Amino acid sequence: MKDKKLLMIPGPIEFTPEVLQAMGMPTTSHVDPDFIEVFGQAITRLREVFLAPNGQPFVIAGSGTLAMDIAATNLIEPGDEALVVNTGYFGDRFGMILERYGAIVTHVRAAVGDAPTLEDVESALQKGDFKLMTITHVDTSTAVCTDVKNLAALGRKHGILVVVDGVCAVAGEELHQEAWGIDLAFTASQKAVGTPPGLALAVAGPRALEAFQNRKTPVSNYYADWTQWLPIMQAYEARQPSYFGTPPVNLIWALNVSLQQILEEGMEARFARHHRISQAFKAAIKALGLGQVPVSGNLTAVTLTAPYFPSGVDRSVLAHIKKAGAALAGGLHPKIKAQYFRVGHMGAVNESDILATIGAIEYGLAQAGYKFEPGAGLAAAQAIFLK
Ligand code: PMP
Repeated sequence: MKDKKLLMIPGPIEFTPEVLQAMGMPTTSHVDPDFIEVFGQAITRLREVFLAPNGQPFVIAGSGTLAMDIAATNLIEPGDEALVVNTGYFGDRFGMILERYGAIVTHVRAAVGDAPTLEDVESALQKGDFKLMTITHVDTSTAVCTDVKNLAALGRKHGILVVVDGVCAVAGEELHQEAWGIDLAFTASQKAVGTPPGLALAVAGPRALEAFQNRKTPVSNYYADWTQWLPIMQAYEARQPSYFGTPPVNLIWALNVSLQQILEEGMEARFARHHRISQAFKAAIKALGLGQVPVSGNLTAVTLTAPYFPSGVDRSVLAHIKKAGAALAGGLHPKIKAQYFRVGHMGAVNESDILATIGAIEYGLAQAGYKFEPGAGLAAAQAIFLK
């Protein structure tokens, strides 16, 4: 019997065979003309994936947290005020990072599973003299998706920089960086972008670069400083050799393959597919009688689902589900950690992955002694797929 488990956590995810093949190719020099060509292509393609035709992409070895660090260290000077639209664990983290670089941080929070309203954010914006606001597009700890478009419009109205943590969103959730007035958006390779972990991917718009260029104090983080990376990104895109820190050659090959696959699918088609897959999965969770962390349907992410365990079931069910073929993630938000689990469904995920995952969840729930009608989840998902 095959022992392969579907990796259905909110990153890393299932990667395509072509992406994995690129990871296994013999590594070349980072200044080899063939690699320069690939790196240049990947930078150009990132602009298309973020829908930021005038943006400056940055591809830097590190995880999503490095991308947060990059945002904070390049845009914040000591004493700057920053507003964090906080929907969970990653909003808290962003606040800590901003403070580390000297920002005075105001959080606008909501109850777990909820999001601050536009009115809450507007009234906070009126009370301070903010340089920037951060929005977590999808907080992976709650599966809450924020209204980035309208939040960014508020930021524009107040003339501040808008930074979007799109780590669990970019290339899955609808995002039009430039049209929505977002100054800096970032993600990490292992999420909906579909490349193994190890790359921080950010796109800075003209206002973010201008704010960086107008700094009065030097960037305090050496590795994350755009002063080092801007010429490197520009050189690779101009197909010129250059060096600051050795780029992860195989990861960048893999990224370029994945970006090509994303653009071949088309951004609108990709957003629609993520929406459909998510609808089907959430219908299954509901049919099985499980609630979800987001308090209302208009707050749910399309990249992941965060179901509560039904009564009498705890996280030990995840081992049964894994045995039946799908690796899922436990809870992350400290206030409700033991009460829920998380299922990622982003990137190259397809309908049969979803049906297999629901089948495994039904198996696990049955093993845990939960009473439900076997097949109810599968039927609910299939009804959406067959529409
Ligand atoms: N922001 C969000 C919204 C995330 O989901 C994550 C990772 N789950 C991060 C930031 C941090 O990314 P990483 O784990 O790659 O450092």
